[in-house]
Amino acid sequence: MSAKYVFVTGGVVSSLGKGLAAASIGCLLECRGLRVNMMKFDPYLNVDPGTMSPFQHGEVFVTDDGAETDLDLGHYERFTHAPLTRDNNLTTGRIYEQIIMKERRGDYLGKTVQVIPHVTNEIKNAMRKVAANGADVTIVEIGGTVGDIESLPFLEAIRQMRQELGRENTVFVHLTLVPWIAAAQELKTKPTQHSVKELLSIGIQADVLLCRSDFPLPREMKQKIATFCNVEDGAVIGATTLPSIYEVPLNFAKEGVDSLILKYLHKEAPPADLTHWQALIDRIHNPKDEVVIGIVGKYVEYEDSYKSLKEALTHGALAQNLKLKVTWIEAEGLETASPDDRSYESKLEGFDGILVPGGFGKRGIEGMLNAIRYAREKHVPYFGICLGMQTACIEFARNVCGLKGANSSEFDPVPAHRIIYKLRELLGVEEMGGTMRLGAWACQLQPGTLASEAYNGQTEISERHRHRYEFNREYEALLTGAGLRISGSTPDQTYVEIVELPGHPYFLGCQFHPEFKSKPLEPHPLFHRFIRASYEHRVNRGADAIRQPTEAKA
Ligand code: GLN
Repeated sequence: MSAKYVFVTGGVVSSLGKGLAAASIGCLLECRGLRVNMMKFDPYLNVDPGTMSPFQHGEVFVTDDGAETDLDLGHYERFTHAPLTRDNNLTTGRIYEQIIMKERRGDYLGKTVQVIPHVTNEIKNAMRKVAANGADVTIVEIGGTVGDIESLPFLEAIRQMRQELGRENTVFVHLTLVPWIAAAQELKTKPTQHSVKELLSIGIQADVLLCRSDFPLPREMKQKIATFCNVEDGAVIGATTLPSIYEVPLNFAKEGVDSLILKYLHKEAPPADLTHWQALIDRIHNPKDEVVIGIVGKYVEYEDSYKSLKEALTHGALAQNLKLKVTWIEAEGLETASPDDRSYESKLEGFDGILVPGGFGKRGIEGMLNAIRYAREKHVPYFGICLGMQTACIEFARNVCGLKGANSSEFDPVPAHRIIYKLRELLGVEEMGGTMRLGAWACQLQPGTLASEAYNGQTEISERHRHRYEFNREYEALLTGAGLRISGSTPDQTYVEIVELPGHPYFLGCQFHPEFKSKPLEPHPLFHRFIRASYEHRVNRGADAIRQPTEAKA
């Protein structure tokens, strides 16, 4: 049986949520008992987003095999169980890198190497490789917007796929915008018409149109779009803006997207079982209370930089029927000239929990240390992730152990006390991404710790990494003697993975990124436990002390 593909393209403008739409289609097909796989092509020339600034590109999502990928893969993992690896996200840069390598090796036997067929063949082979994983349906998202010069080879490749595999094995889903024009008090279909025409001009007739709009599309408008864009009446889908992204699969189900796609693919499947998603949405709409978390970080102006983090916190809150509110706090704003100056405290008062997420570079570190000190001393639940674990250790060394010059060699090349350092460089380990520790690593948990309790008594877990620096075990005896507990290490005991403070309601730092493995229906244990502690902190201290979150960034 031939592999079946759903190709998702986007038109009119970017940022309409194409990744979310693709993930939601995947989710719905899974709910109908099918095995899906998902992949994304990014038209830019970087080989992967690993070197791109979080301000430019948002979060870098990391897979188990250590690929640094586009954040849309995070949506794919949250909405489906597709097994994602470095094969599931390719950029123009990666494609060309592979072609040039082959050319240098002489693989093209003297032929002229060209966009068609060599680049398009490389793209098609990448799709076939993912589809060969045994999925019933492979969903392929093409990054960028139709009309971009950079996307052309990818669109040509999917056009050829239809040509080769036929209609019954390929569906073209196109995401467009139906804007509300305030002056006319009307929704407008023209941009959608233009976008579909643009796609047609390169030989692709869209089969399904997902029309993003802030208001529901009236029936006549759908019919008008269907007529002008040459699609079936039922194939114009109202992809209305919803209060929560987790409602998208249910909305698509209501609009019949799954049945339509399966009809086009000539594929039978049982009806969708959406009970778990429906229950999740019911909790979203009926929270028993809220929980307010302060996130002290460096890239806080651009929320996409911490996409998975925000989602993982949301999952932890939803599991306990709570509404999550987040206040983003720029770490630099918490810095003070002297350690005795505690003026930053007013900016941290009233949160139910404080979190320092991952990050790179020196900026804002002293502010993070102040926030951690505050959380530790005032018994406010604290969760440190990657950089947030490293800074928690530095704070403890400085303020509890009295090691004034404690630091990471990332921020001070020759600190008096090198609490955090580049162990891998010392060990001479070289790999993809320089000396980064990337992807899944096993971690052994110490029984009787907060970590072990959070993970339900499991003794070995696996979590994803993306960092260069490590806890320096030469300081272990000193720090643990003063009360810090190492509750997780790699099984060979080389790397410290989790630290915590016994006697504190929740003070835990992990060297890995648990946020990458949290799903709405399978919330991550550390986030679940952190939210629980934060909510307990909220309830215990009474209404007066609760902070109203600033909605500087929703
Ligand atoms: N900058 C730190 C390191 O490289 C932490 C990285 C992170 O938080 N992802 O080790």
